[in-house]
Amino acid sequence: MVSEVNHQPYSGIIDLELKNICKSFGSLTVLADLSLNVYKGELCCLLGPSGCGKTTLLKIINGLLEPDSGAVLLAEKDITALPCQRRDLGMVFQNYALFPHMSVFDNVAYGLRRRRWSKDQIRSKVDGALALVRLPGYEKRRIHELSGGQQQRVALARALVIEPQALLLDEPLSNLDAKLRADMRDEIRRIQSQLGITTVYVTHDQEEAMSIADRIVVMNDGNIEQIGTPEDIYDNPATKFVATFVGSINFIPGEVTDGELRLLGCTYRIPAGSDLTPGKVLCAIRPERIRLNAGDNTVIRGKVKESEYLGSIVRYLVVVNDGDTSRELTVQVPVSQKPIGVGENVGLEIGYDDIHFFPGEP
Ligand code: ATP
Repeated sequence: MVSEVNHQPYSGIIDLELKNICKSFGSLTVLADLSLNVYKGELCCLLGPSGCGKTTLLKIINGLLEPDSGAVLLAEKDITALPCQRRDLGMVFQNYALFPHMSVFDNVAYGLRRRRWSKDQIRSKVDGALALVRLPGYEKRRIHELSGGQQQRVALARALVIEPQALLLDEPLSNLDAKLRADMRDEIRRIQSQLGITTVYVTHDQEEAMSIADRIVVMNDGNIEQIGTPEDIYDNPATKFVATFVGSINFIPGEVTDGELRLLGCTYRIPAGSDLTPGKVLCAIRPERIRLNAGDNTVIRGKVKESEYLGSIVRYLVVVNDGDTSRELTVQVPVSQKPIGVGENVGLEIGYDDIHFFPGEP
């Protein structure tokens, strides 16, 4: 099996390099001059809404699609013109793409037989791969005799048994139910970390990306909006799109004058060095960053319109008067906090450091 290395999520060594990739289908430009470095040993998630070009990019990496221009380099070698099977990449598809008429053993052994490995070598490698995905003893089973999760494990074993330079996964969990999805997510992360294999993982599910990735590449309309660790992406969204797509957020218009920000009737002194310029500004605040209290001494006041119990947290919809306009803010508090009933008046506290600023309108 692939030798184990200490997993370093961010090695600093570029393993997969995408240079100025362009791809159109007829008049539809899907990828326009996209460049990305994936580091050795990291799990890099391509995250974005349906149709943003994630799968197209993955297919260009694995050779199923040719870019109109640009280059793909793997371990410093230009592989742009190489056919799929000569790219030294393991691939796991959404629908697993297993051979239904073959046994688990034959499915996993397929790539090794094509590479003309000896029988003994194949046996030992397949055993190792099935142990890695925790399916020993399943060699003789047919694919239709396996659960969805087990099929996904076989697909993973088949992709890894050839000891590829990098692993590509295209929405690998979308055919599984919620509980199994969470289990398999942990399993993929465990295996990827154990092997230290460079991995590109496509998903449209932000929670999946947040929980599994070393770095997330947020894509929109064929462009990269932001690249960063899950914490970067969530705490410092670079664009309004990222702020909205990853987690939920409240957008509220504010106004900057003479070194001060006015927001919901509150005045904040803008710290020195800020690049905010006088005029209107779009402010964004995560629901869990707004604190609720029952006191009267808070500038921002509102009334609870709805409350939703979600197990560990309670989500409130609070109506706040902002001059002549009333705004609805989503606020999220731990369930341990004293419950607030619908119709109750509340004070809202928003710290300046919890506000993100974007150009444009809400
Ligand atoms: P999803 O999450 O739904 O799989 P995606 O981000 O992976 O979406 P792609 O499959 O890369 O998106 O598709 C990007 C765009 O390119 C879409 O508008 C799609 O309709 C279009 N597209 C993809 N493949 C082709 C093709 N072979 N011919 C024409 N258009 C295509």
